[in-house]
Amino acid sequence: MTRQVGSVEIRAQHRASCHCGAVVLELDLPDGIVNARRCNCSICKRKGAAVASVPVTGLRVLQGAESLQLYQFNTRSAKHYFCKVCGIHTHNQSRSQPGQYAYNVGCLEDVNPHELGTLPVSDGVNHISDRKA
Ligand SMILES: [Zn+2]
Repeated sequence: MTRQVGSVEIRAQHRASCHCGAVVLELDLPDGIVNARRCNCSICKRKGAAVASVPVTGLRVLQGAESLQLYQFNTRSAKHYFCKVCGIHTHNQSRSQPGQYAYNVGCLEDVNPHELGTLPVSDGVNHISDRKA
């Protein structure tokens, strides 16, 4: 976990927003940034975003719920949300951990994800739901 990124301290309740500001989220991050990673699955490799974990109950949409667009594909169990005004991915509910959202670290207020250094890469391309029996 990471409680400080550069000179920015991660607050227990930290805001996140899309690029245009239509969507504003509040995240409960009492332990800071948890499980920061990238992912090699078909959608994450295109987004290229660093993501981290927050419990589903620890994310609230403060503003712009009507601007959040849901995108689903393949098994349609994961839920990927993005702002339909500016196109920025804010968070997704994964298949492997439905109790968690992965949120876009780059959306955190004042946080530069590049200051996290090199992050581990989740092997989402070999997800268990996609393996052939
Ligand atoms: Zn936006």
